[in-house]
Amino acid sequence: MLTFKTRKAIAAAGASALALSAMMFLAAPTQARDITVQDIDNTKDTSDVLTWGMDAQGQRYSPLTQINKETVKDLVPAWSFSFGSEKQRGQEAQAIVADGVIYVTGSYSRMFALDAKSGRKLWEYDARLPDGIMPCCDVINRGAAIYKDKVYFGTLDSKIVALNRTTGKVVWKKTFGDYKEGYSITAAPIIVPTKSHGPLLLTGIAGDEFGTTGKVYALNPDTGESVWIRPTVEGMVGELDGKPSTMTGKKDQTWSGDEYKYGGGSPWLGGLYDPETHLAFFGTGNPAPWNSWERPGDNKWTAARIAIDPENGEIKWGFQTTPHEGWDYDGVNEFVSFDMKKDGKTIKAGATADRNGFFYVLDRTNGKFISASPFVEKINWAKGIDSHGRPIWDDANRPGDPAKGTNGKGKEVFAIPGFLGGKNQMPMAYSQRTGLFYVPANEWGMDIHNEPVTYKKGAAFLGAGFNIKPTFEDHIGALKAIDPTTGKIVWQDNNVAPLWGGVMTTGGGLVFYGTPEGQLKAVDDKTGKELWSFNVGTGIVAPPVTWMQDGEQYVGVATGWGGAVPLWGGEVAKRIKNISQGGSFWVFKLHKSWTADAK
Ligand code: CA
Repeated sequence: MLTFKTRKAIAAAGASALALSAMMFLAAPTQARDITVQDIDNTKDTSDVLTWGMDAQGQRYSPLTQINKETVKDLVPAWSFSFGSEKQRGQEAQAIVADGVIYVTGSYSRMFALDAKSGRKLWEYDARLPDGIMPCCDVINRGAAIYKDKVYFGTLDSKIVALNRTTGKVVWKKTFGDYKEGYSITAAPIIVPTKSHGPLLLTGIAGDEFGTTGKVYALNPDTGESVWIRPTVEGMVGELDGKPSTMTGKKDQTWSGDEYKYGGGSPWLGGLYDPETHLAFFGTGNPAPWNSWERPGDNKWTAARIAIDPENGEIKWGFQTTPHEGWDYDGVNEFVSFDMKKDGKTIKAGATADRNGFFYVLDRTNGKFISASPFVEKINWAKGIDSHGRPIWDDANRPGDPAKGTNGKGKEVFAIPGFLGGKNQMPMAYSQRTGLFYVPANEWGMDIHNEPVTYKKGAAFLGAGFNIKPTFEDHIGALKAIDPTTGKIVWQDNNVAPLWGGVMTTGGGLVFYGTPEGQLKAVDDKTGKELWSFNVGTGIVAPPVTWMQDGEQYVGVATGWGGAVPLWGGEVAKRIKNISQGGSFWVFKLHKSWTADAK
């Protein structure tokens, strides 16, 4: 009898036609194998996609080559599955693929398990949210984690739910913040191995726009028990094994008075893990409120990247992309580990494309600054980044102090990028083939002014008024190929609407990404030339994935327009108001003639 283990081995070795036809009669699993940390960290096995980022480091690179520059013209839909109901809102989730089953989360905190070959629904879980949830930026979710026999995801009422991956039944459910205060969880959790506590489930919380405070949580994935909590705001005390642990930073160093208690800094996009340095990298959101005149100081560790020791939740290093942030330039964007070859040396580096418009390369072992280069045009909030990685602010483009303004409002400025950022939640990809990063960028600015604001539980805590406007007439989105050794943009592929979906690149020399106009595209990784596209009938705001099953390479992506742009996009939202909503998962593979040749 074929077990799942042997089935995987056969697929990896290249199955015979006979074995393939026999496998077609295999039913869905009744008992799933245990997924291990070794499985998650194994980047060689292309039959599964076991973590957000597609691998622990988050490179979103698949070595698969069956779909390549030559064959991609024969990529056709295999199936499409509708998430159903009237809940057609933004779908930002990356799918998990394990043993021929796709686990994908949908809007309004739902999860679906689908047979990866047919699209048949195996089960569906609906978190049944209470009235009064307060997500800032649509009712989205970014995906699941998988470990042993369970799948996990965060909900908009700020819970983590563990489901049996075979049945979809709840195993445990825990709350990590009061949704009535503005907390929610939208990030995909990750699984990280530790020596002290075994594998842990790590995730971050959302809610900066409501004056919450950021925290990274580490849980026992079997039980949901808290192992450690690391606050991201200096002055707050963490937890370890149920007891208070250490303070994050020092009190009164980068904050004054009690401002840190409502200080934001939420790691709402979650984190990534680097097995080589044994560090978990999380980005942190804007300091609260947006009005920077209310909170003098650098306001650490908001708008930053922090490296956390997964053993105990201690911060090993931090790097603030925007100290004393004042434009809603959250520092959450993913920090992707890669080995950078420069001047004959290999540097253990990491890169991140920040909301503030600069592409940073850091030494990931210690957080030391290596370089920063603008990846969008006409940045004006800073004149550049100094040799220590600190911005050289242009004071004329920080929204003015309300105390010195008129009618209680500070001076309005036009700042670039706009608050939705040079890049937002949509993850970039790094190609081990080309050594390039593929960054989904947006060219826009904003009118912004500050006004006084006081913290009130459960109310927006901004102290700012704003309106996003395009920088150029003909495009807002631009996929940019960036050489991390020079910071230079090698090519770019412009798009009329702002890009909001993630990117994937492959050993076949392709870069896949979706557009709000509904095109899933494959472009040449060296030139950006479009080689294939397919319109899914609604906007794409999620990252694609790829996997190999029974000798065929598949590409899958969640589709459904939404997210922050239509809600917060000002002038830009008016330009793109005719995009249809949706909620589906689409899967593609090569037309049969090519898959036969590729054996
Ligand atoms: Ca924010």
